Amino acid sequence: MIHKFSLPVITLAVAGFLASGCSTEEEVVGIQSKRPASFYRTESAPRSVSYVSSSSRSGRPGSRSLNSLLSDVRLKRDIISMSTSGRTGRSMSPRYITIHSTQNWSRGADSLRHALALKRSKLGRISWHYTTDDQRAVQHLPTNEQGNHADHNGPGNKYSIGIEMCEHPGCSRAQTLDRTAKLTAYLMVKHNIPLSRVVPHYHWPRWGKNPPNKNCPHFLMTNGRPGAKWQAYLAKVSRYYNEVAGRPGAYASR
Ligand SMILES: [Zn+2]
Repeated sequence: MIHKFSLPVITLAVAGFLASGCSTEEEVVGIQSKRPASFYRTESAPRSVSYVSSSSRSGRPGSRSLNSLLSDVRLKRDIISMSTSGRTGRSMSPRYITIHSTQNWSRGADSLRHALALKRSKLGRISWHYTTDDQRAVQHLPTNEQGNHADHNGPGNKYSIGIEMCEHPGCSRAQTLDRTAKLTAYLMVKHNIPLSRVVPHYHWPRWGKNPPNKNCPHFLMTNGRPGAKWQAYLAKVSRYYNEVAGRPGAYASR
């Protein structure tokens, strides 16, 4: 990675950007950022979840705790302020998880860079909840607030948590996908969302657009729509979910 979190001051270069969560063109040039000493804040698992002991063998159903899964995600909670343009202020009870990719191939356009762009209102009204890369995940919005990443005033924005996967040069796609799958599984447990409601951006038609369904996340689509690669991603999510939940649907059925 170009930017290490341990560096006290980092000069950020250029980031081309996203829209509808993956297409707006913006630039973030020459911004300096100071990193706090305690960079990662580990979110606690919900107390109501009675996950299985992590002493049993890894990979087996129910073999790990929710906190163990979240620890792997390396989540930095960095909520953008209410004064930024990306905050909708509209409450949400999440029913879906929507997966995107940034389509931002600028050098260094990692999760931290996207966090900074959101914090500086560089993306207009576009916003989403989490960005993932091969190093970490960053949370930008509370999960009980709508973002603006999927389909304007449609259900994708009204009811879904948006996750953007980075794809800048040098970013390991395999590691990014693995981290995203773990975050997705964590959010499924935390918000009681079944696998059938983990969807690609493609799932949400956009009013007035042609084609209405976006080829996003493009590297998980097959000929522009969900196919084998998307199913493989869901299988990965399902594996992590089951490691925590113990059996398919154990949490989501509650
Ligand atoms: Zn998208």
